[in-house]
Amino acid sequence: MEIPAESKVHILIHCPQCRGDIEFLEEAQVIHCRFCGTDLLVAGRKGVLRYVISPLVSEEKKARLLAQEHLLKSGKRSPRAGEATLFYAPFWRMQGTVFRWVFGSKLMKDPMRRLGISISIRVGSEPGGEEATVSTPPPKERGKVLLSRVLDHTIPGYGGLELGLSTIGIRAQALRLQTFSREHLEMRESFLPLEVSLEKAQADAKWFSNLFFEDKDWIPEVTLQRIVGLRFSVIYFPLWYVNCTHEGGREILLLDAVAQSPVQTIPDGEPILNRLRGNDTRKSFQFSELRFLPFRCPNCGWAFPFRPLSILHFCPTCRHLFGEKEGEWAELAYSVIPSEKAPPPKNALWVPFWRCRTRLESSGERMETMADLYRLAPPPRVVDRNRESRRPIYFYIPAVKFRNPQAIQNLGSRLTFVQPDLNLGSFEDGSHPLTAGGSLGVEDAQDLGLMILGALIPWANRKAHAWVQKCRVELQDPQILYFPFSRVDLFWKELTTGISFQHNAFSEDLAEPQR
Ligand SMILES: [Zn+2]
Ligand SMILES: [Zn+2]
Repeated sequence: MEIPAESKVHILIHCPQCRGDIEFLEEAQVIHCRFCGTDLLVAGRKGVLRYVISPLVSEEKKARLLAQEHLLKSGKRSPRAGEATLFYAPFWRMQGTVFRWVFGSKLMKDPMRRLGISISIRVGSEPGGEEATVSTPPPKERGKVLLSRVLDHTIPGYGGLELGLSTIGIRAQALRLQTFSREHLEMRESFLPLEVSLEKAQADAKWFSNLFFEDKDWIPEVTLQRIVGLRFSVIYFPLWYVNCTHEGGREILLLDAVAQSPVQTIPDGEPILNRLRGNDTRKSFQFSELRFLPFRCPNCGWAFPFRPLSILHFCPTCRHLFGEKEGEWAELAYSVIPSEKAPPPKNALWVPFWRCRTRLESSGERMETMADLYRLAPPPRVVDRNRESRRPIYFYIPAVKFRNPQAIQNLGSRLTFVQPDLNLGSFEDGSHPLTAGGSLGVEDAQDLGLMILGALIPWANRKAHAWVQKCRVELQDPQILYFPFSRVDLFWKELTTGISFQHNAFSEDLAEPQR
C-alpha cells in the first residue's frame, strides 16, 4: 500500500484490546494490531485532537551534559549546568489541501525574448527609412489553470513567551505522535498552557494558504481559492529548561529534547516557570479523542475489506454501507448506477461519487437549474431550455482521494459537465460487488464545490468570472452513487458517461479476495 507522500507522521497508541503498541500513519482510517490480530476503525477525528512528541533526551543527567557541552563550546568559563526540567510547549498544526483556480493570461515561452533579444523593424515604407527598435510586452495567451498544494504548518500555541521556536518545522512530519493521555493530564504542570485560540490558528491557515502559491508564468485576473479538508490539532513539543552558571553569571538554556540541540539562552526563566505553575492562563478547550471501533460489518458481522484509507466501508456480504458518525458506526444510504435494465460489466469496479444538489448565488442572483448554469457555462451542444429549466444542478465529486489531488477535481468536473440522466438502482441480490473504498468525506466534497464551478466556467467569459468570484456554492442533499468502471488498457473507464482515470491513480490498492 502506498500513502500520499506529503506526510509520514506516525501516531502511537495502545491497542484497546491487548494494550500492545500500535503505530500507524496518521492518514490511516483502519489499523491492524500485530499482537492480537484485531482490525480497528479509527473514529473521533472530527474536532481538534492533541498529541505529544516524546523526548529523545528523557533523562535529566543527559540534558545537563548536553547543556554543559554547549556552554563549553560557546566559550563560557567554568560553566556548570544545574537543575534541569522537562516541559512541553503547545503548537497548533494546520493541515489541508489548497486549491486555486487562476483565470488570467499566461506568459508565452518565447526563447528570443527570454534571451533579451529585441526585434528591429523598419519604420516607413521608403527604403532607407528610419530603423527603430520596438519593445513590445511579452506575448500572452489567455486561459486558466488549477493549482494545488498541501498545507501542513505549525505555529506556537503558547502565549507571551519567546522560546526561540517559531514552528516545529519538518520535524513533525518525520516523528511519532502519541495521543494525549491520562498520564499526560497528571503531569499538567509540565505543559505550557494553550493560549493561542483556534480562531487565531484559523486566520493563520488562511494567511499561509496564500503563501508560496503562485505560478510565475501566470498573471491572474480572477482567482478562486479553497482550503479543502482543513483540520487542526495541537502538538506538545518537549524542551529542557536548564539552569546554567558560569563566570559571566547565570542564564537559562532551552534545549530541544528531540534534536538534542540548544534552542536559545534566556537571562530569566521566571515567565516560563510562572506559566507552568500558574492556572490563570489555562483556559479549558474541548479536545476530541480518538476512539477505536471493531472493524466488522455491524449488520452481518463479517469483516469489512481492509481499506486503510477509507471512511466509507462497504460490506460485500450483505451489501450494506457504513461510516463513522460521532464515534459510532452509522449505516449510509447509497444507490447504484445503472439500474438492472442495463447489466453492469463483469469484473466491474464500483467507484463511489458524491452527488449534491447545487445552488449558486452571487450578486443577488440565484441559479438552481441546468438552464441557469448553461447561461454561465454553455455546453458544446444545443440545449433545450425548457427541459433544462426543470432539471436541478447536480455537482459530482469522487468520494475517493487520488494520489494527485487534481485528479479528484478533474473527474468530478467532467462528470458534472456531463450531467447524466441517471436511473438509480441497487446491487443484485446475492452479488459480491468489488467496490473502491471511499476516502473523501462529504465535507471535503462540499469544499470542492467552488473548484468544480471554476472548471465549468470558460476562461474567455469575463462576465462569468466576475459573477463566480463572489459566488456562494451550496452543495446540499449529498447522495452516494456507485458507478461501474471497467478496466480498459491503463485506465478505469465508466462506460455510460465515458469518464475515466488512470488505473494506478488510487491512493490505496484495490486487490481484495472475493468471498
Ligand atoms: Zn491488540
Ligand atoms: Zn454485512
